[in-house]
Formats: sequence, structure tokens, C-alpha cells
Amino acid sequence: MTDWQGKHVTVAGLGVSGVPAARALHGLGAEVTVVNDGDDARAREQAAELEALGVTVRLGDGETLPDGTELIVTAPGWRPDKPLFAAADRAGVPVWGDVELAWRLRGPDAAPWLAVTGTNGKTTTVQMLASILEAAGLRTAAVGNIGVSLLDAVLGEERYDVLAVELSSYQLHWAPSLRAHSAAVLNLAPDHLDWHGSMEAYARDKGRVYEGNRVACVYNADATGKPSTEDLVREADVEEGCRAVGFTLGAPGPSQLGVVEGILVDRAFVENRQRNAQELAEVSDVNPPAPHNIANALAAAALARAYGVPASAVRDGLRAFTPDAHRIAHVADVDGVTYIDDSKATNTHAAEASLAAYDSIVWIAGGLAKGATFDELVGGAAKRLRGAVLIGRDRALIREALARHAPEVPVVDLDRTDTGAMLQAVQEAQRLARPGDTVLLAPACASMDMFANYNKRGDAFAQAVRELGA
Ligand code: ADP
Repeated sequence: MTDWQGKHVTVAGLGVSGVPAARALHGLGAEVTVVNDGDDARAREQAAELEALGVTVRLGDGETLPDGTELIVTAPGWRPDKPLFAAADRAGVPVWGDVELAWRLRGPDAAPWLAVTGTNGKTTTVQMLASILEAAGLRTAAVGNIGVSLLDAVLGEERYDVLAVELSSYQLHWAPSLRAHSAAVLNLAPDHLDWHGSMEAYARDKGRVYEGNRVACVYNADATGKPSTEDLVREADVEEGCRAVGFTLGAPGPSQLGVVEGILVDRAFVENRQRNAQELAEVSDVNPPAPHNIANALAAAALARAYGVPASAVRDGLRAFTPDAHRIAHVADVDGVTYIDDSKATNTHAAEASLAAYDSIVWIAGGLAKGATFDELVGGAAKRLRGAVLIGRDRALIREALARHAPEVPVVDLDRTDTGAMLQAVQEAQRLARPGDTVLLAPACASMDMFANYNKRGDAFAQAVRELGA
């Protein structure tokens, strides 16, 4: 669909993706109608802005398909089982997400996309990738699910050589024709299953990122779950000559990147990979050098190398990278105890990664469990736990898992959700900790029962730690 003049396009959902999509389509000459479930003050404000341009907006009904619709462009979070999509299906109307729209609207000599998805580590990896590409002197940006609109990146004035694109499973679900230069699926653990319907459907949507890749499909060679990311590569229909490239925390085989004696090495993008390997960087160049983050760095390096970036740029880019706040952030050392804020560990898979990064831990956990179970997480971490301090609404689930799998570990259960609760949690953790230990906020739960978001939870932790040291 290249001629937009007079096309009847329905944009489903206002908000971060809907408003720019409506604007862009209107600018191309389409007849745009925005439909939105909600009818609150914010929606009215956005509606007024769009209506001033000549866009039709219908608030309070996101279900009825407007007459004459030829295409729906949906916000990625809208569930596929919504009646609106059933109506579109009956009427033979295609449905695209914001990523599909950006992909279709990019210019003929547009920058290729290096795409990253996975259950955890996407933002970190995409930022590392952009840092490496920049170190190679390329014009690039980290865009997509990271909070920077892909539409803006493809339609804006700025010229890019290559884009580092973070994609969520929702965005991939609605992006049937996306064809990345190369892509990585970092890991796969159950998440958002209520939206996708099943683990199989979730994995299938993640696997779409590999469809049509031209140079490399990057997979996690250490992953054990089913399906594995390598299974998803095998199922994908790729361009002739596209390679499967694994990353591993162990020594790499041919066509893999991995780690040998503290060095990140490439045995994929080198001459004679049966015999040769190229040194890329040292483990200590990765910030923080926790195992899961080294995996992220290897995935970013693989995508950059697939694009032809020299080894020295991988090292320089990794050294220049600093992680976003609340992702294994070192807060302070107080009386020989290290305090780490991983408030972004909002699910068990993420918490598992950060618990694996330290030897002796006082763990602060709890919040909204979102249907998760904690047996596996607690069982795996039990021998590294000095103690646990539990906060938040669903903390009993973690307490019970601790009782089953780590009965020796002292547990403090905090039955309060007021603003002072985090200070008390940190004080209790300090009491349990011994010199050399790490007090780790890795809640494995969402924060909204006690805080506005995970940022605020991490800020409260850092503030409480500062009060300890004062
Ligand atoms: P995403 O964008 O996928 O949410 P982030 O880079 O923001 O990922 O990291 C979110 C959290 O996931 C981090 O706080 C960390 O605890 C955890 N994490 C990061 N990378 C990985 C990984 N490769 N495997 C498992 N957990 C990870």
C-alpha cells in the first residue's frame, strides 16, 4: 500500500504509538479515524489535538469497526482477541502495528534494522548495540520499544546508517512483513501469556523477528527451555546465505561468540572459523560484568559484527556503555556490605539472573506477582541466600517458596505498604547482612502495589541506603 491518498485507515488506540501514527497517516493523505476505549481527560486532550488537524476521533468505543475501514493500525498492546479484530478479520481488513507501519513507510534507501527481542535484557542489549555502532563511527539510534518512536526514526530528518531496534512480543505479533538485516532473541521465559494465549504463541511471536533476516539470526546457545531460541531460528524462513550465530558464556564453537579466560571472543565473523577466533573485549569491559549482562554484550556484539563492525569498536562501545538506572545499579557500600538496586527485575526470570550474579545475598523481594510461581527461582538461589526481606502484596507466595526450598534462610516478612516500608526493609537487610555480602533489591514482582513504578521503588531503596550510611 503505497498510495495513501483517500485510504480509510482506522488507528486503534491513542497514546504513544497511536498519536504519531494518526499524524503520519493524515500527513500522507489518508482519511484517518482513531478509535479509543477510554474517554478520560488525557484522551480528550489528545483527541482535540488530532481533530484540529482534521482527523476523526471516536472516544469510548474501541470495538466497533468504522464503516469503510481498509486498514487498521493498532497500538501494540491491544489484545488480538478483541472484537474489533474479529470484525476486521470478517471484513478482510488487514491489521498492522506501529512497527509494521514504520517498516512500510521507511524510504527506499532506508537504514537497515538490527533487531533485538527476548523476555529480558532487550533495552540493555539495544543500548549496548547502539554504543558499539557509534564507536564504529556509524550514524545510529536505539529505537522502538525502548521508548523512542520507530515512526519518528524512519520519517524524521535525521539520516541513519543503521538502527538498533528493540521489539516487544506484542509489536512482533502485529508486524507480519518486517525483515531485519539481522536479529537476536536473547532468551525466552513465560511472560505476558495472558495476552498471547500460550507459551507456544508467545514464542512464535518472538520468533517472527528472524523472518527474512539477511545476514545473521543470533540465538542463545546456553538456553535450555523449549522451544529454545535456536529452535525459533530453525523454523524461520530466512534469506539465502543468512547464518545462525550462537552466543554462549562458555568457549564458543564455530559460528558462535563466547568467553575464553575472561575474554569475549568471536568465532563467527572471522576468516576460517574452524581454527580462528577474534578477541573482542574483556569481561571487565562489560558494565556490570554479571553473567546475564555478558550474554547481552555478546548478543549486541554478534549483531554489530554481522553488520561488519570491527572488533575494536565492540570493545570501545562496551566500555562507553552505562546501563539505565535500576538495572543492577551499585548504590553504595556500607560497613563492608554492597547494596545493589535491580528494581527493574519485575519478573522471576530477571530476578534469577541477578541472584546468580552474587555469592552471598540478603534478598529484598516481593510486590505484585502477576500470576508467577517462585519455587524454581528460590530453589536455584537458596544456597546463596544469607537472608530475605519480603515486602508487598504477594509476599506470602515467596515466603512459602522459601519455606519449601530454603527453610534455613532467615526471613523477615514486612506487613506494611506505606512509604516508610522500604526504609525498614533496608534496615532489616542490614541487620541480616555480614561484611562481604550483597543486599540485593531484585523483587521478581511488579511494583504498583506500593510504588508508582519500578523507578520509584528503586529510588526509595537508594534513599533508604543513603540514610543507613548517614
Ligand atoms: P527489557 O528491556 O527486556 O525489560 P532490560 O535490559 O531493561 O530488559 O533489563 C530488565 C531486567 O532484566 C534487568 O533488571 C535484569 O534484572 C534482567 N536482565 C537483563 N538482561 C537479562 C538477561 N540476558 N537474562 C535474564 N535477565 C536479564
